[in-house]
Parts: sequence; structure tokens; C-alpha cells
Amino acid sequence: MLPLSASSASVGLLRPLSPLPTIGGVSLLNADLHSHSTVSDGTLAPDVLAARAHANGVELWALTDHDEIGGQKQARQAALALGLCYLTGTEISVTFAGETVHIVGLGFDEDHPAIVQGLAATRGGREARARDIADELARVGIPGAFEGALRHVGNPELISRTHFARYIVETGKCSDTNEVFRKYLADGKPGFVPHRWAGLGDAVRWITEAGGQAVIAHPARYKLSVNEEFALFSEFKQHGGTGVEVITGSHTAAEAVKYAGFAREFGLAASRGSDFHSPAESRIDLGKLPHLPADLPPMWERLASRIARPAPTAAP
Ligand code: AMP
Ligand code: MN
Ligand code: MN
Ligand code: MN
Repeated sequence: MLPLSASSASVGLLRPLSPLPTIGGVSLLNADLHSHSTVSDGTLAPDVLAARAHANGVELWALTDHDEIGGQKQARQAALALGLCYLTGTEISVTFAGETVHIVGLGFDEDHPAIVQGLAATRGGREARARDIADELARVGIPGAFEGALRHVGNPELISRTHFARYIVETGKCSDTNEVFRKYLADGKPGFVPHRWAGLGDAVRWITEAGGQAVIAHPARYKLSVNEEFALFSEFKQHGGTGVEVITGSHTAAEAVKYAGFAREFGLAASRGSDFHSPAESRIDLGKLPHLPADLPPMWERLASRIARPAPTAAP
């Protein structure tokens, strides 16, 4: 057997995972594989998120910034220093059947050109879109929104509707970001600007070519017909996608049951993630989620060889 080099052992990419704790077949690993930092539309820096994940009992974490991987190194370093296992992550914006759908990528090589270039292209349209959103908002009596939103942005390449929402709350026009989306930023509202994101097949390919696996994020959030939803799952599978979020901060208990059924029907692994953005805005905190249904294969079992693990502490 080949000895492991010190560097591979320190991130553990070549070591098998030790058996995961289960009770009655339920995997009890506290994995949170969906969260956002200031590198996209979260309000906490990657290292602050790592500390919060650790304090909340998370054992395996992934930072999944929208269309961005600029926070991965800091997130992984902070996680490993705290004794947390880590998977690389991102959440790619995709246009499918005229609707925006999010695909989470996990466990990819963050330096691989397929993912680096694909995400750069996806981010590319955001500034022009933001200027159009600001023009639309000005028409309904909210001037200066581009500059206002920019003040909330941590990464100039990643200006999102969330940053506009925070600016509009600041103006006093709405009391929270949910109200802003309801009144101004959701599809059909005056500040909504239709945008063409990545193709579904492209997003899945960027992730898998870079050695990772693709997961359909929060499927209950999309306004797809029954036929469109069936097409999403079957095309995703044909493109090589392997997982679906069953337990997420955006699902009700009934929705979790529904998408557990989809996972069984389509032979997908199940993922679990809070989609945490901010202590002030997010309903579910990092790691504070129900466990996955016992019969579904957890996403992290398929990604075992891609998990970065903290170096074992030296024996006394
Ligand atoms: P964008 O990628 O610029 O279209 O922004 C999408 C982001 O807006 C999502 O990732 C959420 O963080 C946020 N968002 C979307 N809908 C809502 C909503 N109804 N309430 C609060 N935040 C939302
Ligand atoms: Mn977001
Ligand atoms: Mn999302
Ligand atoms: Mn998200």
C-alpha cells in the first residue's frame, strides 16, 4: 500500500471516512451542505460562518456561495482548524423552463478550469442586470438603488437581489427582506428583471468535470408545473446529477416528505443544508435541521473520498 503524503493526510482526501453514527438506520452526522457568506449574499465572512457551524454542532460543512468559489480556501482552512470536516461547494444559478433553478455543486476541485470558467461566465451578467433592476426600482419611487445595494455587497462580482432587498429595508420602505421580495423583487413585481443564467446541463457538467457531484437545491421553491418538474428531475439525472436537497431551511415537513419520494423515484442521494444567509434574516440556523429519512442514501456517502478532514490530533 502506498504511504499517504503528509499533505494529503492533513486534508484527508485519500483516507476513508470512519463509519458514520446511525440509530435505526438514520445517519446522525450533523452535515450542513448549503450556506452563504459575504462572498455572495450572506452577511458573515467564511471564517465567522465556520465558527458558527462549529458552535452549532455541525460536523461536516460546505460553504455554497452563489456562482462563486472565492471563499472556499478560507472556509476550508477555518473549518479544519476547528476540527470540522469540509466539502467544497457552490450554488449555480440555472435557467430551466423559464424559471431560475439552483444547482448545488459539492466536492469538486475548486481550481479546475471547468468550474472556474463556468462560474465566471455565470457571474458575468450580474452587474448589467443589477443596473436594470435599479432602473426599474427608480421607476417605482426607489432611486439610487444600484449604489445603495453596492454598499451591502461583499464581492463586487456578486451583486444579487438580496443586496437590493437590504438596501430597501434600510430606506424604511419595507420592514424586512421578505417583504421587499414580495412587493418588489419576486417574479412579476416591478423590480424583477428576467435573466438568462447557465443551462442545466452546463452547470452539472462543470461540477462533475471538476470531480464533484450536483444536487438540486430546495426543489419546493420553484414555480414549475408537474410536467416541468418531472422534466427537471429526469434531465438532471440524464446530465449526471446525483442528489436532491430533501432537508433544507426552505422546506416544510410535508415538502421534505414529497422530495424524499422524488429521491426514491429518481434514484438520487439526499442532501441536507440550512441555506443559512444571516442571523437576522434566516429562519433556520447552521446545523439546526432534522435528520434525513433513514432509507435514503446521504449525499456525503457518495462524496466520502472528497471530504477534507482535520489532521488527527497527536497522541499525548
Ligand atoms: P439573485 O441570485 O440575485 O436572483 O438572488 C437570489 C437570492 O435572493 C436567493 O438566493 C435568496 O437568498 C434571496 N431570495 C429569493 N427570494 C427571496 C424571498 N422571497 N425572501 C427573501 N430572500 C429571497
Ligand atoms: Mn441567496
Ligand atoms: Mn437557492
Ligand atoms: Mn442558497
